[in-house]
Amino acid sequence: MKCPYCESDNTSVVDSRSVSARVRRRRECEGCGHRFTTYEEAESLDIDVDKRDGSREPFRVSKVEDGVRRAVKDTAVDDDETVREVASVVKARVADRDVVSTDEIGEMVMEALKERDEVAYLRFASVYEKFDSAKGFVERAQDLE
Ligand SMILES: [Zn+2]
Repeated sequence: MKCPYCESDNTSVVDSRSVSARVRRRRECEGCGHRFTTYEEAESLDIDVDKRDGSREPFRVSKVEDGVRRAVKDTAVDDDETVREVASVVKARVADRDVVSTDEIGEMVMEALKERDEVAYLRFASVYEKFDSAKGFVERAQDLE
């Protein structure tokens, strides 16, 4: 963790507390003496994601957040709170898994969005499932009723 004032790597933690899934740390730079605050979050749980192309990558909450953020853009639920909420629903559901597929993650996001906003839900579903026919889209839309 570099000091934002002088970029020294020598900083020490003077206070640390958990704020939900994040840890807020008060640090002091040993180079220049300035104090600053960091919010640290475990970026990667120890979970693998099986992708559709057969490759595997570590699960990242930030990737889920990016997808949700795109889906909610300009809808009634276009705010950071919704993005964080949906991502944490997914995170909680995969937390005790070793491996999860992108399809499963997609379903979890869709379920969470469906309860919050229909436009965001349909937008996510259309990007996610790459509907190859109007029928698929209509079926999803009918699910809402
Ligand atoms: Zn410094």
